[in-house]
Amino acid sequence: MPESSFRPATVAVTAGRPDLVPDSPFNVPITMASTYVAGGDVEYGRYGNPSWTAFEEALGGLEGGRCLSFASGLAAVDTVLDLVGQGCKVVAPRHSYNGTVGQLADLEARGRIVTELVDVTDTAACVAACEGASLVWLESPTNPALEVADIATIRDAAHAAGAYVVVDNTFATPLRQKPLETDVDIVVHSATKYISGHSDVLMGAIVTRDDELFDVLKKRRDLVGAIPGTLEAFLALRGLRTLHVRLDRAEQNAQELVRRLEEHPAVSEVRHPGFGAIISIVLAQGAMAADLLTHKTKLWVHATSLGGVESTFERRRRWKVEPATIPDALVRMSVGIEDVEDLWEDLRTALDDLT
Ligand SMILES: *Cc1c(COP(=O)(O)O)cnc(C)c1O
Repeated sequence: MPESSFRPATVAVTAGRPDLVPDSPFNVPITMASTYVAGGDVEYGRYGNPSWTAFEEALGGLEGGRCLSFASGLAAVDTVLDLVGQGCKVVAPRHSYNGTVGQLADLEARGRIVTELVDVTDTAACVAACEGASLVWLESPTNPALEVADIATIRDAAHAAGAYVVVDNTFATPLRQKPLETDVDIVVHSATKYISGHSDVLMGAIVTRDDELFDVLKKRRDLVGAIPGTLEAFLALRGLRTLHVRLDRAEQNAQELVRRLEEHPAVSEVRHPGFGAIISIVLAQGAMAADLLTHKTKLWVHATSLGGVESTFERRRRWKVEPATIPDALVRMSVGIEDVEDLWEDLRTALDDLT
């Protein structure tokens, strides 16, 4: 484990390494094993793997808690929602990641929980919704509306009600927001996005400081088996090593593009929370113009997902499950680490064609 006094960039580079002794490899070697010789701590491949542990030390070090890795972000979401007792109430932003909203709807339809979806920018409504809740889910910024929650106020109301507070920190990453430091109980990640950062891995993670919660969540992972592959964990950690450099660069690009997009007549609205590298724009001429834009560029790739080194975008309402409160002409842009002048040139040419 690295010294806790290290700053985030140093933790990203140094955490989860083998001991620095002669001939030790720099990276934890990939261990392909379904089982281990009896009598040790691990015993079976569903209970542990050295590559998971290395990844968990690094992400746990960045978030400031103990980490468990999962097969995907949604496997991590499912494991957290399973903490809620039968018939209990969960509060969540109406613009949470659509897979999260989908899980909540599915659990509710089967009588497992009661869900209250809130406008996360309406802090008073969020506070009121906390009454009687068992778990308060937050995603900040939300996807793709990029709304920011007043986490501290909502956390206090949730804790007063005896509810767990969870933050999906996928968009902000621990480099822009550390919820556990502000007394949030659980952080969830889709490590598929910025943490891995190269569009080649699906993985998820949960981080907590509460040892009891950690044990309950680990037991659930042991029982259900929503575990990551060994190679995935290795690749996710390799991606995490450069998270700070990638995010700084992508964020700089995003900030420059926000300035330029705000001036373009084809764009009626630009949303960016002031940090991070996701931008949502609304096209002045509607959904058709948005669809045209995503098919006219040469560099920007029309694709879902986000957080990779390459710039991608899509009109979110092309997905049937996207709520009608998201503008029809909204295009979510995941800004990559290419040269910003090339990104702008490509975008501007396509936008100019629309006007
Ligand atoms: C992608 C995403 C998820 C789901 O993660 P997967 O790895 O795709 O299962 C959850 N939350 C947010 C905010 C996401 O962007």
